[in-house]
This record gives sequence, C-alpha cells and structure tokens, in this order.
Amino acid sequence: MSVTQEVSLKSKLKEVFGFNQFRGTQEAIINNIIRGHNTFVIMPTGAGKSLCYQLPALVLDGTAIVISPLIALMKNQVDQLNAFGVNAQFLNSTLSKAEINKVKKETISGEVKLLYVAPESLTKDETIDFLQKAKISFVAIDEAHCISEWGHDFRPEYRKIRGIIDNIGNLPIIALTATATPKVQLDIQKNLQMDDASVFKSSFNRTNLYYEVRPKHNTKKQLIQYVKKHRGKSGIVYCLSRKKVEEIAELLRVNDVKALPYHAGLDASVRMANQDAFLNEDADVIVATIAFGMGIDKPDVRFVIHYDTPKSIEGYYQETGRGGRDGLEGNCLMFYSYDDIVKLEKFNKDKPVTERDNSKLLLQEMASYADSAVCRRKQLLHYFGEIYEKDCQFCDNCLHPRERFEAQDEVSLALQAVVSTDQRFGMDHIVEVLRGTNNQYVESYGHDQLPEYGKGAERDVQFWSSLLRQVLLSGFLEKDIENFGVVKITPKGLNFIENPHPIKLTKDHDFEQEVLQEEEK
Ligand code: ADP
Ligand code: ZN
Repeated sequence: MSVTQEVSLKSKLKEVFGFNQFRGTQEAIINNIIRGHNTFVIMPTGAGKSLCYQLPALVLDGTAIVISPLIALMKNQVDQLNAFGVNAQFLNSTLSKAEINKVKKETISGEVKLLYVAPESLTKDETIDFLQKAKISFVAIDEAHCISEWGHDFRPEYRKIRGIIDNIGNLPIIALTATATPKVQLDIQKNLQMDDASVFKSSFNRTNLYYEVRPKHNTKKQLIQYVKKHRGKSGIVYCLSRKKVEEIAELLRVNDVKALPYHAGLDASVRMANQDAFLNEDADVIVATIAFGMGIDKPDVRFVIHYDTPKSIEGYYQETGRGGRDGLEGNCLMFYSYDDIVKLEKFNKDKPVTERDNSKLLLQEMASYADSAVCRRKQLLHYFGEIYEKDCQFCDNCLHPRERFEAQDEVSLALQAVVSTDQRFGMDHIVEVLRGTNNQYVESYGHDQLPEYGKGAERDVQFWSSLLRQVLLSGFLEKDIENFGVVKITPKGLNFIENPHPIKLTKDHDFEQEVLQEEEK
C-alpha cells in the first residue's frame, strides 16, 4: 500500500465518518480486503466492525454486497450511511416491487456503493441474475456465526451463501462476527471455504465489566436493592419469558423505578416507544427478553442483570456486552439456579436430536461457569479461545476467593486418565473412569481395566468435573475442535504428568449451602 493510499484512507475516514483515527486492527483489515484477500474478522460487539467493510466499499469500484440477518439492523445502517452522504440501499422483503426495481437499476448503473441483502432475498434466482449483471467489489457477511449450528443464532439460509457467491463471480469475502468460539470459527471458515483467509481476532476482554453470579434466592428483594443502589442509572434486566418480563417490570415500577418492558409479544409500536424511552432516558431500566439489544448502541448502560440463567455463555457474553460501551462502569449480575438449567433443558425436549444435544452442552457449560469459583473473566475468555493467565481482580470470584486446596496427585491422575483413554472422550466419561463407575459404556471400551479406573472413587462427580474444568482453563487440556465435548492433552499437560509439581485448585461454589447460611443470618 502506497503512502498516498494510506493518506486517502485516513482522509476518507475523516471526510465521510468524521473519525480521526482507526481503531485497533481496522486499518489492517481494510487494507486486506482492498487488496482482494479473503478476510475474517472476529471482534467483540461495539469494537467497530461495520467500518471494516463500509470504508473499503467506498474506496473500491463497484458495489459491495453486505449480507445481514436482521432487517431492522439493515435499515439502521443504511439510514446512517445515507446521512453521511453515502449511496447505500437494501434489498429485503419490506420493499415493494417498484422499490426493488429502482434499487436494482441504481446498482447496475454503479451508483450504489453498498447493497445490503437479507439472506432470504439473496437465495432468490432473480436476485442472483441481477447481481451477475452488476459490478460487485466484494461480499461482506455480517454476523457470520449464523452459519454455524454451534453458534447461538443459527440461520440455515446462511449455509447457502457460499454457493451463491460462486454463482455471482470470483469475489473476495469479508466475514465478520462478534461471537466465535474456536469451534464456530472453524465452522465458518470451512463453510465459506475461506481456509486461506487472513484472520483478525481481537481480544474479547471487556476490562470495565464487573462479573458477578448470585444464587437465585430472594431474587426479587435482591433485584430491588441492586437497582435502587444504581438509582437513576441505565440498566437492562433480562428474563427468559414474556410473562416474567411483565411481572418484573411491574415489580420495579411499584418500587418507584422507572422501568419498562420489552418483548416480542408487545405491539411493535409499544416496543418501539419503550425502546426509545430507554434510549432517551425517560426510562432508566428496560426489562426484556433476549429479543432486546441486537444493534442497540446505548453507550452508558451501567448494569445488566440476568434475572434468569441464560442459555449459553455466548448469549450471556453478548448480553452483558451491552453494558459499559463507553468504557466506564459496567456491572453484570446473574442470578443462577440449577432449576433454571433443568427448565431450559425441558424446553428443548421437542427439538431434533443434534440440536437438543447441542443446547444441552451449552447449558452444561453455563452451569459450570456459574458453579465455578475461578476468575469469571478467565472462564469467559477461555470460552472464546483466549488464555488469560492472571486472575482479573475484578469479578466476584477474584474479590471473594473460595478456599483453595493442593491437588498435585489428583491432577496427575486425571491427566493420566485422559491419556489412557486415547484422548477420545468427554469429561463425563473421564469422571466415570476415575470414579470407577460400573456401566456398559465404560466396559465396552475396556476402560474398567485401566490402572486409573476407580482410583478417584472417594471423590464425588462434582469434584472431578470441577478439577477437569480447571485444568482445562489452565491449559493442561484442550477441547477437540472437530469433536465437540472431547478433551485432549496439551504439551503442558504431558509435561505435568512427567514433572508433576504442587498446584492449587479452587473449590466450586456450594450455592445451596450459601443459601442456607443466608437464611440462618
Ligand atoms: P460492531 O459492529 O463491532 O458492534 P459498530 O460497527 O456498530 O460495532 O461500531 C460501534 C461504534 O463505534 C459505532 O458508534 C461506530 O460509529 C464507532 N466507531 C467505529 N469505528 C470508529 C473509529 N475508528 N473511531 C471512532 N468511532 C468508531
Ligand atoms: Zn476475576
């Protein structure tokens, strides 16, 4: 890239968007796509993904196609770009025939710089015919995790995108997402055939967010106290059901909190009005289902409460991510009970088997996160494939540490069991072997004959599960990306088996006990 080009990118940034500087890896990403390379961007929400395709679209000849899953988001972005004086348009089911024809005409004549398309519209033959006639600069796939069944927002039409792009021409692709676990990342790259892509992954650490989990007990009282402590500040309370949303919004209102409900069961006009009231600070608290928040950019949300236990760590991370966007204070409080997990599992009863198994694993990980007394940030970041070495000193577990215990022998034994079972099993199986559980499955692999079999019988399932999760977090084990649930040993783990050393682990929370103690007080 020449000096003049660099200067012109910066001046475009200033001229069109009014920004003085690129953020993080934006400039490198933009250069990569301008050079025609496939590009894969993984950046947390709010980090500035949109600019990574908007700016190159302005610099390059022709029209960039932006595939985006939500019509509301599409309209927002197009309105914004139009306000900046950019010719951006969208194609989706909300347009009339005449409007569609106008968009197509302007695209073919080369006036449109960015064309937003819903995946449903993209799959139509007439859309493909039309796009073949236009000069396309590149394709941006926003919310690319929708491709993966392992993500939290799977959209089957997303899996057809690659074939359609091939039909249109040989085009560079930029895929973007804010939620990619290593598994999802691999899935996206495979499905889009982007093994060659340059990957730009930013850290998911949100240093200003404080994470806290409390047992779901006297929850209403705790909620009111918490919200009153943050009186006058903006906050979101997430609930799982519409009914709960209404109930909690009412509860807060009778306690003099300016709170409004938001869920898909409300009239669109009411929903819009409540959202606006929240954005304009006429209401302090919005009580919502997870339908709320996609694309909402309110910078000063000071707390995010999960009244019910969320369905997955990814969802939880996204929702808490709406707090403290301005870099200032952000408090994330989650109420947890195992009953919620069981309830959510029941909801999945009628889903197809793979989907059900999927959801179940996601829920188990959620439960483990809540139960664990290890630094929350370390756990969250590990989920997104980042190793966070220290403890953060800015989460409930760091500020109120639980008892620790020496576990050298147990860690050795557990790692050895992973090796002996050929690194082909999940944690539950390893626990069964360690505890000497007598079942057909263990026997069918001859694992009851292993030296480790039953060696850990005096410890319970929770002890071993917790230990395995902690050695995973410390990098002695890793998840097998190809086979969900399977754990493998790492070089660090092998080294530990050969040269064991003292190692302190943390006892899980015992929330039932904590609740009993609370009641005695
Ligand atoms: P994401 O899609 O990653 O969630 P957005 O693209 O919506 O994030 O950007 C988040 C906010 O950051 C927007 O308000 C956007 O205008 C702003 N932003 C993006 N890039 C820059 C930049 N280089 N300088 C200042 N603000 C930026
Ligand atoms: Zn911490």
